[in-house]
Amino acid sequence: MKIDEKVEPIYKEVLDRNPGEVEFHQAVREVLESLGPVLVKHPEFADHKIIERICEPERQIIFRVPWVDDSGTVQINRGFRVEFNSALGPYKGGMRFHPSVYLGIIKFLGFEQIFKNALTGLPIGGGKGGSDFDPKGKSDDEVMRFCQSFMTELYRHIGENTDVPAGDIGVGGREIGYLFGQYKRITNRWEAGVLTGKGLDWGGSLVRTEATGYGATFFVDEMLKVRNDSFEGKKCVVSGSGNVSIYTIEKIAQLGGTTVACSDSNGYIYDEKGIDLELVKQIKEVERRRIKVYAETYKHAKYISGGNIWDVPCQVAMPSATQNEINGKDAEKLVQNGCIAVGEGANMPTTPEGIKVFLDAKIAYGPGKAANAGGVATSALEMQQNACRDSWTFDYTEKRLQDIMKNIHATCYETADEYGAPGNYVTGANIAGFIKAANAMVAFGVI
Ligand code: GLU
Repeated sequence: MKIDEKVEPIYKEVLDRNPGEVEFHQAVREVLESLGPVLVKHPEFADHKIIERICEPERQIIFRVPWVDDSGTVQINRGFRVEFNSALGPYKGGMRFHPSVYLGIIKFLGFEQIFKNALTGLPIGGGKGGSDFDPKGKSDDEVMRFCQSFMTELYRHIGENTDVPAGDIGVGGREIGYLFGQYKRITNRWEAGVLTGKGLDWGGSLVRTEATGYGATFFVDEMLKVRNDSFEGKKCVVSGSGNVSIYTIEKIAQLGGTTVACSDSNGYIYDEKGIDLELVKQIKEVERRRIKVYAETYKHAKYISGGNIWDVPCQVAMPSATQNEINGKDAEKLVQNGCIAVGEGANMPTTPEGIKVFLDAKIAYGPGKAANAGGVATSALEMQQNACRDSWTFDYTEKRLQDIMKNIHATCYETADEYGAPGNYVTGANIAGFIKAANAMVAFGVI
């Protein structure tokens, strides 16, 4: 898609100021493509240079993370926290531990988080952090020492009213535990609201573990309802086999669908009888092993090493692994094979070419910043419970999550209509998220 001529120079400036950060460029471009018509209705946003300001992080922190591995060797990683925008609340967003992490990845994630968090309707700004540390193959002790070293720098930048990190790829309950423990030790404060995704015994919220996957599935359910359809009897493919993927598969089953394939970075499993989720949980959450082990238990299931999961015919596709996992060709294949809905559990899993294929085919396409907002929304619910030292029941919290996802869907749907792009959830999500943050920025003056 073309960028409006008023917005084009802003995009050029972003490219010039942030050389080499291709994922960040991609995320910015996707939002900026939607904003032309917004400046027509809201000339004040141009006067106040809101787009220019929102593309520049408020603060970027990069730090050394030294630690000692089990063999006694000193290791050095790089840590990041990008505090992107605090117009709507404290910076909020996860931390990613993965060897692919560099500033461009953290900035794309932090940028998307502004709009995603705005869409939740809850008081949270946008931020993201992480490290190029690879938890794969590391012992518990190594992960602990790394997390302690990471927090020894990070603690001075975060706080329940400042910046509230959580998990993302490579950061789950175990890592949040080590990080919280070190924060508590250094600061001498039992400050529950400083991190979310905490354990249930020490300030965590029920449903936070399930929230991203459940939320993405609720979002797709809403898109299907608009088309007088439902998950009942649908064949689904869910990429990945981590936290988002697992709870997406669980909710799909509860809503009457069947997931026939899931994956990891080495290959995918095809099980025509439907993926046995208890086995996936055992392999991934308990044993921390690779998904190919699934086919050792079930002889009827096929493991395709190095294969492309998007070759598997399905009616609903839920990419829940990582960025740019669906390219233009994959998207074409999905549409040809009869896919009618795509809900992104991962952040930016579809390339711009892939998005174009979905939009042209007019299938129901729910972009990540809307569809996967249930995770961070439930983090905000965890913050609410922490603030009043309360804990809610599973059913109540899940109902809150479902209502939030319904509202996000309705907001995106109505905004797309209002701006002349009916059914286009990309336009709807970008514009609705942007306007909310932009209005607050105008109110605060030039800061
Ligand atoms: N990492 C998740 C996301 O991409 C959750 C962030 C959070 O809970 O703060 O939205």
